[in-house]
Amino acid sequence: MNTPRKADLAGLTIAEIGDALVAQGDPRFHAAQIYRWIHKRGVTDVDRMTDLSRALRARLADRFVVLTPRVAAHDVSEDGTQKFVLELPDGKRIESVFIPDTPAQTFCISTQVGCAMGCAFCLTGKMGLIRHLTAAEIVGQVRVLAGALDLLDKPFNIVLMGMGEPLHNYDETMRALAMLHEPHGLGVSPKRVTLSTVGLVPMLDKLGQEPLMPNLAISLHATTETQRAALVPPTKKYSLASLIEACRRLPLGKRSRITFEYVLLAGVNDSPDDARRLVKLLAGLKAKVNLIPLNAAPGIPFERPSDAAVDRFARILADKQMTVSVRKSRGRDIRAACGQLIVEGGRVPSAAQQLAAVLG
Ligand code: SAH
Ligand code: SF4
Repeated sequence: MNTPRKADLAGLTIAEIGDALVAQGDPRFHAAQIYRWIHKRGVTDVDRMTDLSRALRARLADRFVVLTPRVAAHDVSEDGTQKFVLELPDGKRIESVFIPDTPAQTFCISTQVGCAMGCAFCLTGKMGLIRHLTAAEIVGQVRVLAGALDLLDKPFNIVLMGMGEPLHNYDETMRALAMLHEPHGLGVSPKRVTLSTVGLVPMLDKLGQEPLMPNLAISLHATTETQRAALVPPTKKYSLASLIEACRRLPLGKRSRITFEYVLLAGVNDSPDDARRLVKLLAGLKAKVNLIPLNAAPGIPFERPSDAAVDRFARILADKQMTVSVRKSRGRDIRAACGQLIVEGGRVPSAAQQLAAVLG
């Protein structure tokens, strides 16, 4: 006879834990205590949840486990950035990065193992999609990093800019944000979360209706349809024009603005004409631009522009009263910088096959 697999308590919302308690004849109010132990105190052993009776702990241990990603490797960069390679229960690996004092403490979290979008300059894209992460695994990264760095009780920001395209894994990502927001857990306000996306238009519209809408960063990278299609393949289905329209439709708070990320590739999208087109494209949008000089890597067929080219590009935007910043690359020495997240192993269908499957 097969013993049924125990369910993961760390993957349940408070309401779901409450339902499970009621179903086994226990009072619902213990759900908040259990949630606090797991998410706020980082406790994974039910037996250490000492404000629950021994009998309840025994009943829980019978039916549940608390799964937590295991730290398989940990590197600290010269600049203080820390990269964690985390192993999931099925042995797959992802990367999560801690970026200190920028000015807040920031966790850069993954939403998928690999990514199906195939952006031309991104190492994660070269892996293809291996699988989506569950909400428990997305939340688990924050719990593990905050626990390891003693930040469970301190404020921090979360950027969904690790491996994967969050809007391709929409439901689990939104569930994770709700679980992170839970006041009995880490209580992370959506204002402290930034979701970075290539901009899958229907999902972006859906996101605009969410009660817990995070800040948005749109990975733009190009100013013409042809150029963007070459760099960001989903453009073939969701044109640059339709993406900008979707951004105009988004309900933004009074003070909030959309960040547009723009990876600068030498001789490809870094000319003064590109900068001027970018100004026009974003006219009338509540926008800020984050320029990201390419993090070059073997297998990536582009080069990082000179600092002078980056300055020239930034100045053209600033002269037109746009808010522009240049992303300082952190953790490059430990390959923790943007687009450098990749975990070896895994044979997957070609990027083109995967993208066709996603876009239909
Ligand atoms: N899939 C999402 C979030 C993860 S990528 C997205 O694409 O937005 C996070 C950021 O890293 C994106 O803006 C992406 O364009 C950027 N990036 C990817 N590869 C890079 C590289 N080689 N150098 C610099 N930035 C890169
Ligand atoms: Fe995926 Fe983002 Fe990399 Fe594009 S840049 S391949 S969407 S992780």
